[in-house]
Amino acid sequence: MGLDFSYNIAVAEELGNIRCGGIPMAIGVQAGMATPALTRFGSDELKKQFLVPTIAGDFVACLGISETGAGSDVANIKTTAVRKGNEYVINGGKMWITSGSQADWMCLLANTSEGPPHQNKSLICLPMNLPGIHVAKKIDKLGMRSSDTAQIFFEDVRVPCKNLIGEEGNGFTYQMLQFQEERLWGVASALIPLETIIQETIDYTRQRKVFGRPVLHNQTVHFRLAELAAEVELLRSLLHRAVALYVEGNDVTKFASMAKLKAGRLTREVTDSCLQFWGGMGFTNEVLVSRLYRDLRLVSIGGGSDETMLSIICKYMDILPRK
Ligand SMILES: Cc1cc2nc3c(=O)[nH]c(=O)nc-3n(C[C@H](O)[C@H](O)[C@H](O)COP(=O)(O)OP(=O)(O)OC[C@H]3O[C@@H](n4cnc5c(N)ncnc54)[C@H](O)[C@@H]3O)c2cc1C
Repeated sequence: MGLDFSYNIAVAEELGNIRCGGIPMAIGVQAGMATPALTRFGSDELKKQFLVPTIAGDFVACLGISETGAGSDVANIKTTAVRKGNEYVINGGKMWITSGSQADWMCLLANTSEGPPHQNKSLICLPMNLPGIHVAKKIDKLGMRSSDTAQIFFEDVRVPCKNLIGEEGNGFTYQMLQFQEERLWGVASALIPLETIIQETIDYTRQRKVFGRPVLHNQTVHFRLAELAAEVELLRSLLHRAVALYVEGNDVTKFASMAKLKAGRLTREVTDSCLQFWGGMGFTNEVLVSRLYRDLRLVSIGGGSDETMLSIICKYMDILPRK
């Protein structure tokens, strides 16, 4: 039970056609970020309770990993879920939670014991209507303004132990696996916006005349746009290769991290270069390029920063100095 991953990625690419970045973000969390671990490791009962209505669109899901003191350093989260009888009692808080102020449930990462940080965590399906859950604030952001991002606190929240996904203590590992899908999803959803903005820039600069000729006729402009289009195609190829390997059952952490890194870098390059060619118009809120300049800036930060991707790639290349 669950969404077929290659279908999911095809949907992610297609969602890029929607001009409002917040909608693909919310659907991405729903389909590719908060649910893969439940799909793979959850009990049938949990899937029936949380996954089925989420896929049907009756439930909004959110993913609770990041905290105020632990974003890049996931192992350092402080939220605890302490077993008392047949319940977990949850205390702590989560930060930057997409769809957090309207979600029906959260895929929560919490410390369920005091063991080593990679073996003391668990993923738990947490209904968001339980006593003790406080949505503190909707965060005011530079971009993705149509996606709600919340800070959430937990105060003695009681949830049945049967809401545990898979085995206790495996949450960190499950989340690292889940991140592969999140990162590939993020890459896929950026491709069409990048192509769209390159095409809109071609259309605009073709009709905009400066010094008596179209802006596009300057070689620096059309060469730059051609170069960016080539880079987007390269990114698509890497994405498709990683997805094909993943669907065959391989660990694609290295390729997913490379694609996510490249997507972060490239979205910044494409939106910045294109915006420049629009002149003053590019600096207004009337055109898509300025919105994508803000919205896509998130790709280098959300789901793990560029530097986190570099650290993972280095680890797989065995060139990261050991502690
Ligand atoms: C709009 C938005 C939506 C989000 N949605 C969710 C969500 O739904 N669920 C969720 O759990 N989280 C979510 N996040 C959180 C996101 O995953 C984190 O912001 C991200 O992992 C970075 O963590 P941080 O913000 O704490 O940055 P920090 O960990 O404080 O890092 C700050 C900066 O330090 C640098 N850095 C970090 N590590 C290294 C290193 N090893 N070497 C060199 N430099 C380094 C990087 O430049 C990084 O950007 C969201 C964030 C945003 C902005």
